[in-house]
Amino acid sequence: MENLKNRINKDGKVLPGNILKVSSFLNHQIDIEFLDSLAEEIIRRFSGTKINKVMTVESSGIAIACSVARLLKVPAVFCKKNKSSNVPEDVYSTVIHSFTHGKDYTVVVSKEFLNKGDSVLVVDDFLANGCALEGLISLITDAGAEFAGAGIIIEKGFQGGGDKLRAKGLKIESLAIVERMSPEEGVIFRS
Ligand code: 5GP
Repeated sequence: MENLKNRINKDGKVLPGNILKVSSFLNHQIDIEFLDSLAEEIIRRFSGTKINKVMTVESSGIAIACSVARLLKVPAVFCKKNKSSNVPEDVYSTVIHSFTHGKDYTVVVSKEFLNKGDSVLVVDDFLANGCALEGLISLITDAGAEFAGAGIIIEKGFQGGGDKLRAKGLKIESLAIVERMSPEEGVIFRS
């Protein structure tokens, strides 16, 4: 998606520690019309795939999940970061390591909203090492539901998470894949 790559080059900021900041259109202020165009492209890449639920993890994935779900006319389910040390019984839970915050957190989803027979498209703003996506896939598997694939806005390809999951035969579609980046050089995309 050339317009996404151009937007990242124009508005994105590369911070030390391999963090790409896209706060002006995705992570703090959201350009809704642009987000909807990204959602349309994700859906195009999954045309023909059975999807009855879109899933993400709070909070940065919620906007794109809502946009995709609205177009598909299916529910958007967002997994919650568990605040207490007790995990209730009526949820599926998993531990995810946060790349941006450098710590582990427990993520839960109510058993009410993820069921056997669901075919779930996971969407997220970023894919880096793949921990968040692996965690969501394990929740889907625990529920006896099917992982239909993942639609990601920006993949940091150099961190390897996407390729590791593709090597397992999973369908991972990223709209822009970063080959390398640095504060000096900016963002260089794969192909
Ligand atoms: P992973 O679990 O694949 O290592 O990281 C994915 C999650 O970390 C995403 O849900 C995203 O919120 C966050 N993340 C990872 N790298 C970046 C980044 O460079 N910029 C921003 N804004 N978020 C990131």
